[in-house]
This record gives sequence, C-alpha cells and structure tokens, in this order.
Amino acid sequence: MESAVPATAAAAPLELPTRLLHGPGPSPVAPSVLEALAKPCIGHMDPEFMRVMNEVRSMLQTVFGTENEMTLACSGTGSAGAEMLMDNLVEPGDVCLVGVNGVFGGRLAEKARRAGGEVHTMDADWGQAFDQDAVVAKIEELEPAIACFVHAETSTGVHQPFDRLGEAMHKHGGLLLMDCVTSFAGLPLEVDAWGVDGAYSGTQKCLSCPPGLSPVTLSERAMHKLAGRKTPVHSWYLDLTLVGNYWSGSRAYHHTAPVNMNYALHEALRLVLEEGLEERFARHQATHEKLKAGLLERGFEYASDPDHSLPMLNLVKIPAGVADEAAVRKRLLTEHGLEIGGGLGALAGVCWRIGLMGHGARDESVDTILKALDAELG
Ligand SMILES: *Cc1c(COP(=O)(O)O)cnc(C)c1O
Repeated sequence: MESAVPATAAAAPLELPTRLLHGPGPSPVAPSVLEALAKPCIGHMDPEFMRVMNEVRSMLQTVFGTENEMTLACSGTGSAGAEMLMDNLVEPGDVCLVGVNGVFGGRLAEKARRAGGEVHTMDADWGQAFDQDAVVAKIEELEPAIACFVHAETSTGVHQPFDRLGEAMHKHGGLLLMDCVTSFAGLPLEVDAWGVDGAYSGTQKCLSCPPGLSPVTLSERAMHKLAGRKTPVHSWYLDLTLVGNYWSGSRAYHHTAPVNMNYALHEALRLVLEEGLEERFARHQATHEKLKAGLLERGFEYASDPDHSLPMLNLVKIPAGVADEAAVRKRLLTEHGLEIGGGLGALAGVCWRIGLMGHGARDESVDTILKALDAELG
C-alpha cells in the first residue's frame, strides 16, 4: 500500500556557522570537549562507562564543594535538575519559601507548586539581591520545609549571598536548595560549608559543555527526607532513589544514560580542574572587569546592583539611541557572528545580557564584543 505521507528527500548534511557565544548560554565549547563527544559510544552498563561516571561524580563533588555521596549528572538540562530536586524533596502540603528576583526564581516557585508545595515567595526588585538578614527573618517566621534561592540569576545578572541560609533552615529541620546553574565553575561554591541540602546546575554555562546534563547534589539530610516520604515521587524518570541506584548503589538499569554527553561533561570538568578553580574564578572576574570598563567608557549603564553583579553575566541597559534592539542583535549575529542575549521577562526590550562564561571568559572575547558594538552602534 502506498503511504499517504509525501516522500521527502533526505536533507543535505548539516552545515553550521561558528558563532561567538556571549549570551546567557550556551557558551563556547572547548575543542577537546567536542572531541570527547565524538568518542565511540559504549554501553551504559559497561564497566568502562561506570568508571567514567565515577570520575564525573568525584569531579562534580569538587566543583560543588561537597562530599555528598548523592552527586550525579541528571539527564536533561538545568530545568530537569530543578525538577529533580523539587519532585523528590517537596511533599504535598510542604511549606516552601522561594526567592523571586528574576525569571529563574519564578520558575522555581512554579515547580515547587506543581510538586504540591504551599509556596510563599519572597520578592525583590529585578537586579537586586536578597539581604540575608531579611531572608533569615522570613525563615524564622515561616519555618518552611524547603527554601530555595538562585545563586546566580541569569535573567538579571545578580549574585545572591548564601552562606548564612543553611544554618537558619536547619534550626527547624528544613532543607535549603540552590540553583547554581550559572555560577557552577565560575564562582566559588561551598555546598557543604553553606549548609545547602540540594543544588543543581547545567552544562552549557560556565562549564562550557553543550547543553544536555544537569549536575545535581543532595546532602544526607535531603536523602533522609526522601527516604521518609509518605507519597511516591510523582516523576518516575527523575526519582532519585531509582536514578541514584544506577549512579552508585546497585548500578541497576533505570534509563539509558546519555553516554556521550557524559564524556563531554567528563572532559569539561577535567579542564576546569586542570585550570584550577581559583584560577578559573579569577579569570571570570578579570574578564568581567575588562568588559565593564569598556562598556562604561562607551556610556553603557549596568542594570544590576554593583555590589552583587555577576562576573559571567553582564546586565546592561539598552542605549537610549537604539530604536530597534532586536535588529541590532540580529546584525551582531549575522555581520559579526556574535550572539548576545536579549532581556528576559520584564527586562525584554530594556536590557541586554552579555555572557562571559567558561571558555568565553577571555580578553580576546572582550575585544571582539566591544569592536562589534562599536561597529553597530557607532
Ligand atoms: C539556564 C538556567 C536555568 C535553566 O537551565 P536550562 O538548561 O535552560 O534548562 C535555570 N536557572 C538558571 C539560573 C539558568 O541560568
């Protein structure tokens, strides 16, 4: 019988431009990470792959600043890691406190709600961080089962201090969660010292790896809460008891790990540790300062609080003379091969986001960005 679906000729093999990725992610990928992706695919139960996973886990522990046994790469992007934490740690009816000072905090509140939590938000102006004293006071008033804040708000370029929040949550037996998607491998992270009970990241920001995996870590306290759940975790795919058994424990098959993405993550982490964490943080900071000086000299204004600005994500106001900001970004892309980010949410059309992440946090990148802006803005 003839198919009713019209036949389509095979598409031509992919041809793609090289872009200079200086938006909010993905960031430029190091050549050796691309080479790791192209290595032979082996079985997800192969002992050699188990070795890759073990090495990925121990390198993740170092970057997270934790000794947590439950540290792994969740299949999926950063959003999957966020849902893994929410779905496993929020039980229906749990009081949750979520800090909302940008798009990603808003998404966390929604994820906590969908997991059945009774969500209370704490709000701050976009571009501002939360004062830890105010957060601690709110925690003492509400005694939430879960509190969650974004360490590096990619929609606003804000760096949230975290070091005092864990203690406040643990006093009444609550758990502290942290979105460190954009800060991972770009800013110091001290999951254990700050008392963070659950944290997640993504591969395509300061790790300079393609998108596709989400580093996740859970404390003993968090694992204890998970073990005591009265209701099953709604998501089967993200159920940490099952996924955790594959990453350590019995190594039982749960879902097929994205094998080659784990190779890429392995190589990206290896590059991070080879460079040295302190050196990497200093490089991000120095590159940010160079870009900031150049932008200020050209009359740009930052829109994030200068005391809490992120080095890897620069939030600047779109210059007053620019009538069509999307057209400018399009020309940067087509004429200069340069991607910068538009504003997200309430900041769309108001701000641009210039990323200096991972492999892209280099002096040459700053020169390229400033030259392209000069050419397009005159
Ligand atoms: C990018 C990002 C996410 C979401 O990650 P995806 O990889 O797009 O799913 C979450 N939080 C923050 C702070 C981010 O920057």
